[in-house]
Parts: sequence; structure tokens; C-alpha cells
Amino acid sequence: MMMKNDFEAYLDELFPNPKCELLYNNDYELLLAIVLSSQTTDKRVNMVTSVLFKKYNSLESLKNASLDDLENIIRPIGSFRKKAVYVKELARILLYEYGGVVPRSRDELIKLPGVGRKTANVFLSEFYNDPYIGVDTHVERVSKRLKIVRKNASVLDVEKKLMKLFSKDVWAKRHLQMVLFGRYHCKALKPECSNCKMIDYCIEKRENI
Ligand code: SF4
Repeated sequence: MMMKNDFEAYLDELFPNPKCELLYNNDYELLLAIVLSSQTTDKRVNMVTSVLFKKYNSLESLKNASLDDLENIIRPIGSFRKKAVYVKELARILLYEYGGVVPRSRDELIKLPGVGRKTANVFLSEFYNDPYIGVDTHVERVSKRLKIVRKNASVLDVEKKLMKLFSKDVWAKRHLQMVLFGRYHCKALKPECSNCKMIDYCIEKRENI
């Protein structure tokens, strides 16, 4: 419990008002931005979506866009062929099967192309503040460094453990804080260990950095 209390206090100290760093104007733009964000940074996704959502400013126009043009716009963030197909397909399915509204249900969301459990959780917690914890690379790394889970735990194990650790009313907030903690403080390559209040709980502290 010591660790949990200290960790939550530290997250609140470092990131008192955490915000998602993906830019979006509505439900489908957020969902598409999250799908595009796999294997790249939010900053790069924002660069791409600022062009994509300006040129194609409705699901209808995204559905009708040529794959070539979508690929060209998405190219800077990698996996652009696959992601262009997801964008077009998602636009079509959301329009025809969901009346143009992104479903507020994880079971429905994970049926969509390019949408897995993490994407669904991130969407629901960000857009609706619904109680879900999306486990991305930052959340997973931090959880393992702080021995919240074993080193070989799966992402599902991480999600379940975090749901037990934190009270449900703060899941969405803790998720965002852990993403920011991993992105800016407990970074993959050069974590700020010499300046970290969690150092006594950590298996990965790098005292010489
Ligand atoms: Fe991360 Fe270093 Fe802090 Fe451990 S001591 S949680 S590796 S920043």
C-alpha cells in the first residue's frame, strides 16, 4: 500500500491535470488518431491528422478518399498502407453500421478494423471518461519497473493489476498520468532516475544517469 500511495501522490504531483496529447474534434477523429498512433508518437500523429482531417472533414469524405491519397498523407508515421486501409474501412463501417457515431462499448469497438482492446480502452476513457485502463508501451514499462507486475506479465495482466491497484473512479486519470510519466519521466532509454521519487520501489533505477 505504501508504494500505491506514494505512486498516486507522485503522479498527482507531476501531472495534476493530465491531458491526452492527441488532437481531435469529435469521436471519430479521436478513434482514428488512436489507431494511427500505434508504433509512433502522438506528435507525429498530430502532424498527419492536421492534414488528414482538414482535407477530409467528414466520415463520408474519408470513406470516399482514394487509398493513394490517404497513404501519401499517412506515410510519415509508418505502416501507412495498413493504416490507410483502416481509416477508409473505419469511416465506411462507422457510417453504415453505426450511424456515424463511434459505439460506446468495448465489445463493439474491438470488432472494428485496427481497433484492439488497448485502443478501445483509450478511446472510452478519453472520450467519455469511462472506467478503462489502456495499457500502452509506457504504462506497461512503468508497471514492470515499479514491480506492479512481473517482468513477463502480459498487457492483459497489467491492465487487470492496475484495475485492482487503483480505485475505479480514477482509472481514466491514472492511465493518462502513467502515459505521461513514461513519456517524459520514466522514459524507455534515459529515465530520470536521479530525480525520481519512486526510486526505492524500482527494479530499473539507473543511478548513473
Ligand atoms: Fe523510472 Fe528511474 Fe523512476 Fe525507476 S527510478 S520509476 S526507472 S525514472
